[in-house]
Amino acid sequence: MLAALMAGMEDSGEMGGAGAAGVRRENGSDGANRNGSNMATVLGIIELCWGDVGLLLSMPGQGLGNSAIASVATEEQLERFGGKWAAMAITEPEAGSDSAAIRTTAELDDEEWVLNGEKIFVTAGERAELIVVWATVERSAGRAGIKSFVVPKHTPGLVLERLEHKLGIRASDTANFRLEDCRIPRTNLLGSEEVHTENGFAGAMQTFDNTRPLVAAMAVGLARACIEETTRLLGESGIAVDHAAAPWRQPAAAARLVELEADYEAARLLTLQAAWMADNAKPNSLQASIAKAKAGRSCVEIALACVELCGAAGYCESGLLEKWARDAKILDIFEGTQQIQLLIVARQLLGRGSAELR
Ligand SMILES: Cc1cc2nc3c(=O)[nH]c(=O)nc-3n(C[C@H](O)[C@H](O)[C@H](O)COP(=O)(O)OP(=O)(O)OC[C@H]3O[C@@H](n4cnc5c(N)ncnc54)[C@H](O)[C@@H]3O)c2cc1C
Repeated sequence: MLAALMAGMEDSGEMGGAGAAGVRRENGSDGANRNGSNMATVLGIIELCWGDVGLLLSMPGQGLGNSAIASVATEEQLERFGGKWAAMAITEPEAGSDSAAIRTTAELDDEEWVLNGEKIFVTAGERAELIVVWATVERSAGRAGIKSFVVPKHTPGLVLERLEHKLGIRASDTANFRLEDCRIPRTNLLGSEEVHTENGFAGAMQTFDNTRPLVAAMAVGLARACIEETTRLLGESGIAVDHAAAPWRQPAAAARLVELEADYEAARLLTLQAAWMADNAKPNSLQASIAKAKAGRSCVEIALACVELCGAAGYCESGLLEKWARDAKILDIFEGTQQIQLLIVARQLLGRGSAELR
């Protein structure tokens, strides 16, 4: 029902897109200050993740692969793949944080790409209709040889090997695939076929500038849910936050809650900033990583602090804090871990390349 609602919002065009499939990088700014598809998507995700991140990740048409397609696909590809649910397959057994190390290969044979390799931890891999697979067309070209390919789910040679059992986001499936002489049309490559050694990887990496704020938004939604539930539970025990009073004039639990609110607000504003920049054609790689780092870490700290503040009521499965505490950690891992985001931020602030600072 929610997926249909999102699709309806996208079709209406009222919001310039909503949901992962609606995120598009603006090409140029006409000087107008706008809130477009990135902001709409981030705000929608914050609301949907008040409750269940796993549900959002399991919503048809809202995969990270959809954002990749929406960000770089040609009009013809949008026509073919638009409206379909797309998962994103980057990670491999030997390539997690270091996505430049991927070994899956794509070889051109006449008018088809032939893919071979292994992809693990693919969110919504079992349920999605398309898998956006990162593979190298030229190992010797390093990062520049890495391209993304749209592989329809039932293509022969794409084998789903198993599903993971996880700490949190259990409503979301996490699939492992093998690609064995998997043939797809030449036109399923996203972006340019050319291998540009100067900035070849930059194109693929730019997808993350759009998707990292989305994961940050998931963390913001989860953090707010934790804070609101804790406020309610503390309120039932007669502890209310007085925002007009100094922390030392309040019960310790209320003062701690104010600290968590401040942390949440910082994460929220950074996330909105990254989305706003994308909507206004401003380079946002730095801000997208800052937002993801801050929101990912804050949501884990906030969720655990809320469990702590509520004691047994926070720890038991009879309440939602226990679930949110389990769900939070993945938001600090996938789409680039905490450490990798800090590395990206450091590289940008210091003007160092990935070979110099790793
Ligand atoms: C539930 C779930 C869903 C996922 N969904 C997807 C998906 O849809 N698509 C997809 O492609 N992948 C997905 N992933 C994979 C995820 O993106 C990776 O797990 C993540 O990138 C980290 O890679 P890794 O697990 O190999 O850890 P590693 O890269 O081995 O890292 C292990 C630890 O070392 C740290 N580390 C690594 N390199 C450095 C460095 N240079 N400096 C400092 N610290 C470093 C990391 O931060 C981490 O703490 C998912 C994972 C999970 C668990």
